[in-house]
Amino acid sequence: MDAEIESVAVLGAGSMGHGIAEVAAIAGYDVVMRDIEEELVEDGYDQIEWSLGKLAEKGQLEEDPEDVLDRVSTTVDLEAAVADADLVIEAAPEDLEIKRDIFADVDAASGPETIMATNTSSLRVTDIAEATEHPEYVCGMHFFNPPVKMDLVEVASGEETDEGVVDAAVEFVESLDKTPIRVRKDVPQFVVNNVLTPLMGEAGFMLDEGDVEIQDVDAAMIFQRGYPMGPFELNDFGGLDIFTHSRDQWDLPVPDSIRSRVENDNLGRKTGKGFYDYEDGEGVNYEPTDGEGVDTLRIEARMINEAARLVGDDVADPEDIDVGMRLGGGLPEGTCRTADKLGLDNVLEKLESLHERTGAERYEPDDYLVELVENGHTGEKAGRGFYDYRDGGPYHYISHELTDDGVLNVVFDREERLNAFSTDMFDEVKRVLESVDDEDVACVVFEGAGDRAFSAGADITGFTTAEPTDLASVDETVQTIYEYPRPTIAKIDGFCLGAGLEITLACDLRYATEGSTLGSPEIDLGLIPGGGGTQRLVRLIGEPRTKEMVYRGMQLSAERAEEWGILNRAVEDDEFEELIDDVTDDLANGPQTALEVAKNVIQEGQNASLDTGLTLESQGFGLLATTDDMLEGVAAFNQDREPDFGGE
Ligand code: NAD
Repeated sequence: MDAEIESVAVLGAGSMGHGIAEVAAIAGYDVVMRDIEEELVEDGYDQIEWSLGKLAEKGQLEEDPEDVLDRVSTTVDLEAAVADADLVIEAAPEDLEIKRDIFADVDAASGPETIMATNTSSLRVTDIAEATEHPEYVCGMHFFNPPVKMDLVEVASGEETDEGVVDAAVEFVESLDKTPIRVRKDVPQFVVNNVLTPLMGEAGFMLDEGDVEIQDVDAAMIFQRGYPMGPFELNDFGGLDIFTHSRDQWDLPVPDSIRSRVENDNLGRKTGKGFYDYEDGEGVNYEPTDGEGVDTLRIEARMINEAARLVGDDVADPEDIDVGMRLGGGLPEGTCRTADKLGLDNVLEKLESLHERTGAERYEPDDYLVELVENGHTGEKAGRGFYDYRDGGPYHYISHELTDDGVLNVVFDREERLNAFSTDMFDEVKRVLESVDDEDVACVVFEGAGDRAFSAGADITGFTTAEPTDLASVDETVQTIYEYPRPTIAKIDGFCLGAGLEITLACDLRYATEGSTLGSPEIDLGLIPGGGGTQRLVRLIGEPRTKEMVYRGMQLSAERAEEWGILNRAVEDDEFEELIDDVTDDLANGPQTALEVAKNVIQEGQNASLDTGLTLESQGFGLLATTDDMLEGVAAFNQDREPDFGGE
């Protein structure tokens, strides 16, 4: 089938429903939102109005909020809601019978080719689809909370789902400017929650055993392993009842430490108390120094085992799992990538020893994990694990494209963290420059994904436990950019801070949109710039300004950065692309050897005495005087035409 989606119905105006309706309306769809009572749809509508107002206030809405709101209509009449919809997204309560009733009604009231999607978090798509006459039109479309902010959507197939329906659902998600991941088989909880659940579950089992403290486990996962929240804190945030309910539905074990709290109505933040006491106590109260000696591998081994199960059962690819864990789970890197770094043999050994000690099924290593280890695919060090590293490995945090004109576009692609640099990301930038043949490259353009940041700096989540050698990749990457033989361009739209600024300083040319901000905030972390920031800045803008920027952690507007000489130019948004195109056109059509010599002479000469610099220049000049490009340049000048350089 080949479905075109134009109109959308959302069933349920609660936390998820109104958010989904809002993102669909923002993307330009006409949306009907339905709930069972007038008051509930009105509440949902009011929330959309409020949220659109907030987005407009922050400049994150391209249209007038009223125009977006005009595309949303509400009803309590199911038939009226779905009769003309190409896509129905159900976001009603997480109860199989309710959902089955809804899907049976939708099936009867909608057109024959209407796609019916469920936002269920923990039910099987197939069990819901069975209530319809057209299970091939039913799929999972799992948004994360809040849909307006969260970029990920899991698109899941039921047993009968038509591939065309899934393709149309994926396309729809992309049209919302969200990132879809494919869940190819019908597993309850899809991908992200399956991998994330053991984080909270295993922490609970460790607490049951009585030899760890809540604060220690949370602090260890955050400060040693870089997780954005500790497992207990996270469970309190989501609600211990939700965790328990999702496990009970499938008769899966729940740690006593979690169940007993649910029985006492201590459900987490929403009741004021869970693992932490938010009302009478001080709330979340771990310290960065807590957590010594906590067996974090025990928790991560179980998450990795789940990831292995999903890959082995062909539910999802490692790439999709990792994107899901980053965008949906908020992790600094994907679980499969983490596994390859930890060593799958270490993970397997941990699971085996836990299994042997407890006999609990949850530690039984998945067949796929065992197979990887038996084949020697134990991770990055072995050259293969979840990923194949023999040719350097996949790029997780950057994307790149070399145009026919020789423009190498490198995008820092970690939008969920404002393109902040992790060690992997630094390595990937260096790797891409080294792997593309520079003979094919006329110039390189670096930019950040999205419209909020070039890069907000180095990702500090791993800093507390990083070794100085881990941080060396900053320097190596910045130096590789600086020494790259072709012209390099920083294309800055949004925040350009810390390591982002240092990358920028290593580029030859720097352009920004007027709303961009450049700065060196390292001092506020008790640090100084570590990727050449102090040295390149002082050579560029002199001592007083460099000291002011570094000492005060100043952030400059693009206008000021241009005035100070950091930027070649700052322009308005609507002039930006054209400016970059003009520059890259000039560079791509310019004499390649002369550009390379010019870069070399300017950079080398700057660090030498004037005499040496002048000698370098005259050597370069002499070298170029014998090239075909020079002959062509002179001939073109004489004939009053554009030169056509061949690069020799
Ligand atoms: P909610 O309780 O906030 O909203 C559910 C809404 O559905 C309520 O307003 C209710 O009146 C309405 N409703 C009940 N019967 C209905 C019917 N027959 N037709 C239309 N609406 C009906 O719940 P929620 O948090 O928005 O969750 C909705 C779904 O999304 C659930 O399946 C849940 O598992 C899933 N989900 C929730 C989250 C989350 O974090 N809240 C995240 C992802 C997925």
